[in-house]
Amino acid sequence: LQKIGVFTSGGDAPGMNAAVRAVTRAALANKLKVVGIRRGYQGMIEGDFIPLKSNDVSGILQLGGTMLKTARSAEFRTPEGREKAYKQLKKAEIDAVVVIGGDGSFTGALVMSQEYDFPFIGIPGTIDNDIYGTDYTIGYDTALNTVVQAVDKIKDTARSHGRIFFVEVMGREAGLLALNSGIACGAEVILIPEAKGDHDQLNKFLEKGYKSKETSGIIMVAEGDEAGGAIQIAERVRKEHPDLDVRVSILGHIQRGGSPTAKDRVNATKMGVAAVDALLDDQKSIMIGLDNEKIVHVPFNKAVKLNHSIDTNLMDIQKLLNT
Ligand code: ATP
Repeated sequence: LQKIGVFTSGGDAPGMNAAVRAVTRAALANKLKVVGIRRGYQGMIEGDFIPLKSNDVSGILQLGGTMLKTARSAEFRTPEGREKAYKQLKKAEIDAVVVIGGDGSFTGALVMSQEYDFPFIGIPGTIDNDIYGTDYTIGYDTALNTVVQAVDKIKDTARSHGRIFFVEVMGREAGLLALNSGIACGAEVILIPEAKGDHDQLNKFLEKGYKSKETSGIIMVAEGDEAGGAIQIAERVRKEHPDLDVRVSILGHIQRGGSPTAKDRVNATKMGVAAVDALLDDQKSIMIGLDNEKIVHVPFNKAVKLNHSIDTNLMDIQKLLNT
């Protein structure tokens, strides 16, 4: 092993830069050369490579986004696209690659490594924290804190006007962000795809809770809730309860940006170093994960997206505090 590549792929997440820095510096410390692959698999296909020295990753630890940029590549899904990518890697004399992304990026790596026997190591980077085999994904902690700060502000105005706010957070298939931010903000109701019966709780709140004791309310909605997003749910509520002052706030892409939290920086750094260790150990087709704070290796074919078995205890706590 002499030269490795590193790239970010799929949706960006705060802390990816910290991981790129850790991979680069750990590899350099082990006398390996490092190449940054820009714009994910698309950049791999096009040979958009830049050499990375220690200085090139200075000052990025605290920055959101990804200095290597990211992309989704339809071409890489085709055998012809992967052949081009493989040829570019060979031409640049890259022996192995670290991919920072979500389960789609790992699937792509697995497919290519099976076709060309090329070593890939994955680092999970997604604000949804919905990858099997790891308790933690890069960016989740920062996104959670961004949501909490935003909802605290919404709460001030909701309380002042006696309004009910439906706040939509990211999570097409996963409600972890909505659940935890809802707990942290004292939301009256939390609507997530994994929960059954949460709309009963909403109806109860609207019919009894709000009128008898509440003067305002925050309803957290994961964008993938089965009843639709915050706009659709609020529309229904407006029809059924024309007397209520209902508003919607969709937090959107602010959840993906911003300076990573200390936790995201530390974990991304640990994972970056562990990814290089794994390559030096001749490992391939595994994702670096964290299980109870300890580094674990998870085969790519297991590291798929899943609806985390959501913490039912946390849901019970939320209901208890809002009866
Ligand atoms: P996020 O969780 O943020 O969506 P992700 O890594 O899951 O991140 P995807 O868009 O699913 O994001 O995947 C990133 C890229 O990986 C795709 O644009 C594609 O180039 C490649 N990829 C995904 N699935 C496959 C596949 N089955 N075969 C080949 N390449 C794939």
